[in-house]
Amino acid sequence: MLNTPKVPFRCILCESKDYQAVAPQTRDSDQRIIKCQKCSHIQIFPLPKTADENKFYNEDEQTRLLYKNIDIEEFEKRASFDTQRRIGLIENNFKRNISILDIGCGYGFFIKLAKDAGFNATGLEVSKERREIAQKVTGEKILPRAIQGKNKSGKKYDVITLFHVLEHIKNPIELARDLKTYLKPNGTIIIEVPNANDYLLTLNRNYKDFFWQRAHISYFTPETINEVLKKAGHKNVKIIGIQRYSFQNALNWISRGKPQLQNPKYGASKFKLIESIYKNFLAKNLICDTLWIEAKVN
Ligand SMILES: [Zn+2]
Repeated sequence: MLNTPKVPFRCILCESKDYQAVAPQTRDSDQRIIKCQKCSHIQIFPLPKTADENKFYNEDEQTRLLYKNIDIEEFEKRASFDTQRRIGLIENNFKRNISILDIGCGYGFFIKLAKDAGFNATGLEVSKERREIAQKVTGEKILPRAIQGKNKSGKKYDVITLFHVLEHIKNPIELARDLKTYLKPNGTIIIEVPNANDYLLTLNRNYKDFFWQRAHISYFTPETINEVLKKAGHKNVKIIGIQRYSFQNALNWISRGKPQLQNPKYGASKFKLIESIYKNFLAKNLICDTLWIEAKVN
């Protein structure tokens, strides 16, 4: 049985008060994971206090928790699997001279590669430590703030990207709505988030316990992320499934009950055929580990 929460629960998507328990704690906090009974949105509860969040991101605690003593070139190398994939998807669908704003740009690896590919790219990053590195990596002036409220500068972009950002935000609908004011007519918002319908969650208890983490406020499914964008007034929502982690990684979880953060083998599998069948099946059925979402401003 759950204890009665001190602050009453309110779903951050639909404001319903009815919920069911999903997990009694996260891997790094005693906050619970809860599913809204009305709209099925999964979220952390209670929500983190803003002061705690600021400390968490400013001191780059999130990264330190994951990667200890890592140098930036090594980090870039590790990130390149994702960065290259993202550039590839964007290159297929957009003209080279478009402008891109990367929100939560981290160390700036995506911006750097986007610029190399001929895009006009810049970004925002709230963490001071990451932002300083991003400015060196990209040669761009990285803006030191989160998007708050509607666009007052008048500067608009063809594409706004949020890679693993929206799951960290307390008010995703409001942010998605505000972002429309930063997009040019016919502009596109591109979002990448972890998928709460990840098949491995149904297979392995250790993975499930590891999945919930204090930094993630929302755990989106294809249905709930679609709801966020529709409520925010975005049009033509397109969802693509992506399986980042390999078949070997799934086997590792099942046999050893451990993550492979120190040695991520996203695609270097010895089982090439099974690997491609596995990844394609999960992605096609949207039960993969990652969702790529594109939506239009009008
Ligand atoms: Zn709800």
